[in-house]
Amino acid sequence: MKLIAPTTAAPATLTPIPAFADNYIWMVQKNGHALVVDPGDATPVLAWIDQGLVLDAILVTHHHNDHTGGVRALHQRTGARVYGPRHENLPYRDVPLSEGDSVDLPGLGLHFQVLDIPGHTAGHIAYVGLIGADQPLIFCGDTLFSSGCGRLFEGTPAQMVESLGKIGTLPVKTLVCCAHEYTAANIRWALQVEPENVALQARAREVAELRAQGKPTLPSRLGLELQTNPFLRIRHADVRAAAQRQAANPLSSPEAVFACLRHWKNEFK
Ligand code: ZN
Ligand code: FE
Repeated sequence: MKLIAPTTAAPATLTPIPAFADNYIWMVQKNGHALVVDPGDATPVLAWIDQGLVLDAILVTHHHNDHTGGVRALHQRTGARVYGPRHENLPYRDVPLSEGDSVDLPGLGLHFQVLDIPGHTAGHIAYVGLIGADQPLIFCGDTLFSSGCGRLFEGTPAQMVESLGKIGTLPVKTLVCCAHEYTAANIRWALQVEPENVALQARAREVAELRAQGKPTLPSRLGLELQTNPFLRIRHADVRAAAQRQAANPLSSPEAVFACLRHWKNEFK
């Protein structure tokens, strides 16, 4: 994927706006303009916008209410253009998107490309772009979490494996902007899968410290996730062996390993 650099050198600011119990509504600000991703609630976004930002765009990754509940109110209040998945029903949308489409935001000088990443929902999309000359990022909604992934509400393990595989080929320095603060709980489980993983042990310490200070554990970085997220490591021998120990039958494919891990995680307390 060839990403297009920002058209102006002004720095962009990336902010996770907390919403509900554990959602993040990602905001990018630049030149007095802003975009938000997955505004499940308009109120915390308006608190930022009303300080004097022009909201140019609302990017939606999937149809769940905790990602779309504030879309209509924000659109009505600000006139921001609403981008969202072509193959899902949303409360409001101006521009339907699927893989191969792009989002050009001249007010922000930013450009995003769209990936289809079904699995959590059937039409889930991601937005990939550069927020600095050399700083890629992805808004991945509820598909990839730090040390975890979304539950399969509407998709199959094979779809999710393919979707995570697409994300996994982005540059390792890509900032991973997930929509929930699930990291600490995910890591407790990931340490059951790979207790000997030194990178995961280090991430666990970092996350414990961040949470103790009330700070977000996100964005993550793709390189870190490739080292610490079991769902991106289904071909790794230790992860395969750990999954096999949970399974009654031989796990003969990456999809079977993934499905076993997903089931294990669903049951993990
Ligand atoms: Zn969701
Ligand atoms: Fe969600």
